[in-house]
Amino acid sequence: MKKIALIGAGFGGLAAAAILAHRGYAVEVFEQQPTPGGKAGDLRLGGWRFDTGPSLFTMPAVFEKCFALAGGDLNAALSHEPMELITRYFWDDGTTLDAWQDPDRFAAEVEAKLGDSAASVKRYLKRAKKIYDTTADIFLYGNPWDPLNIFRLAGWRALAGLPFIAPFTTMDTFHRRYFHDERTIQLFDRYATYTGSDPYRAPATLAIIPHVEYAIGARNLRGGVTALVRALQTLAEKNGAQFHFNTPVDRIMKKNDRAVGIVTGEEERLFDAVVSNADVTHTYLSLLQSESEAADRYQRHEPSISGVVFYWAMREKFPELTVNNIFFSGDYRREFEEISIKHRCGFDPTVYVNITSKFDPADAPADGENWFVLINAPYDDQQDWALETTRLRDTVIEKISRRIGRNIEPAIAHEQVRTPKILRELTNTNHGSIYGISSNDPMAAFRRQPVKCGDHPGLFFCGGSAHPGGGMPLATLSGMMAADAVTRRLK
Ligand SMILES: Cc1cc2nc3c(=O)[nH]c(=O)nc-3n(C[C@H](O)[C@H](O)[C@H](O)COP(=O)(O)OP(=O)(O)OC[C@H]3O[C@@H](n4cnc5c(N)ncnc54)[C@H](O)[C@@H]3O)c2cc1C
Repeated sequence: MKKIALIGAGFGGLAAAAILAHRGYAVEVFEQQPTPGGKAGDLRLGGWRFDTGPSLFTMPAVFEKCFALAGGDLNAALSHEPMELITRYFWDDGTTLDAWQDPDRFAAEVEAKLGDSAASVKRYLKRAKKIYDTTADIFLYGNPWDPLNIFRLAGWRALAGLPFIAPFTTMDTFHRRYFHDERTIQLFDRYATYTGSDPYRAPATLAIIPHVEYAIGARNLRGGVTALVRALQTLAEKNGAQFHFNTPVDRIMKKNDRAVGIVTGEEERLFDAVVSNADVTHTYLSLLQSESEAADRYQRHEPSISGVVFYWAMREKFPELTVNNIFFSGDYRREFEEISIKHRCGFDPTVYVNITSKFDPADAPADGENWFVLINAPYDDQQDWALETTRLRDTVIEKISRRIGRNIEPAIAHEQVRTPKILRELTNTNHGSIYGISSNDPMAAFRRQPVKCGDHPGLFFCGGSAHPGGGMPLATLSGMMAADAVTRRLK
């Protein structure tokens, strides 16, 4: 039986492990942490439960396909339902807006609360769909480097659609063509952060993200994101994959540049293929100790932005809030200048508050709520994070308290904080970035690491820093693509 080593049990690694084990390979997963999930971890503070990373579950069809490829059934393993209300937005001027999943209802809300028409929202979402339809088959589900794309319908569609996908226009400029009200522009600009990018630099092509959220759908996951992680692990184990937790891989063994195994502790283990779900830069620099052109290149690429997260176990309920809440910065452009150019957190930051106990009461005591509070932050560049988090904590408490009209601080029963530096230490992500390399550059999709390593036969990559990119669905797609690439090689 052919043997495959998987380094890391994040979404990409779990997807690849479950599928490859189902195809009959002997799969072993080596994970440095005591539990699976990577950035998508699980935290308990007293009687409160938190997902440590991702909260918004989108593109369920990707997970359905992944489970099916591994001989499982997502909908039998997990309960998830569409979100009627995706996000509640708060501005300092007193405006509150509910972004409904139903596009007509959402467009009507924008017209009622902001200065843009429902028709402009619908026109924009139609264009976002067109961008998605033009790009998805190649850039999400396919292989952008494949020269044979020129003979495929998807390739022609992408070429013919170039004028529509606006790769050389920034998201912010693009949004100004559809909307006049700064608040509507800010609302749609925010989607750049879903790839860890800056809306004043990132290409308008990222407008596919609102299409994914409003048209393809965002969902509530019962049991949290961690339930999805555990379901994938269970499926992989059922298929025969073996998990080794608390087992960091120190090195990938090479023979004439071919990847032939891994080293953990003192032990050298030979495998027919090695799949790295660890960050691409960590894999090249630490695991391969490579001085290749690729290693040099990944070091030079700009990492995506990161985040500071406060996990607040609240001993009170807040009916003013819903599952997803955004408290916007009064000066969004300045916030991104501070993050991407000055490499510090914004002085008036945008704050995201996710509260899963609103739909899953098991996540908090009956009279409390579990607040996951995320603030955009620069990647780790040896900032003084103790100082930053002390300042941010005061700013965020003051901002939310002012906006909802009551002091939230006395409600915090327990808390924990996670900085980009902590994220780097826990997951080996490059500079603590969340989404691999930034998508600020129109060529970013081509610069990402392909799933098959060109320099080292036998080595494959999957996860948010590899193709097709970051976020749970894309990291999972990456694992599915890596499983196919390994299968083709070992045939
Ligand atoms: C705060 C935050 C909020 C987010 N919000 C969302 C969201 O709402 N929606 C969304 O879709 N996505 C979100 N994301 C992004 C999402 O979490 C990631 O894109 C995705 O989980 C990455 O999966 P991955 O496959 O790249 O693996 P990772 O999660 O990066 O895991 C890689 C694993 O490899 C292990 N590893 C690394 N090096 C070694 C080694 N040498 N030996 C052994 N093991 C090793 C690590 O410990 C880790 O477990 C968020 C992330 C964060 C941090």
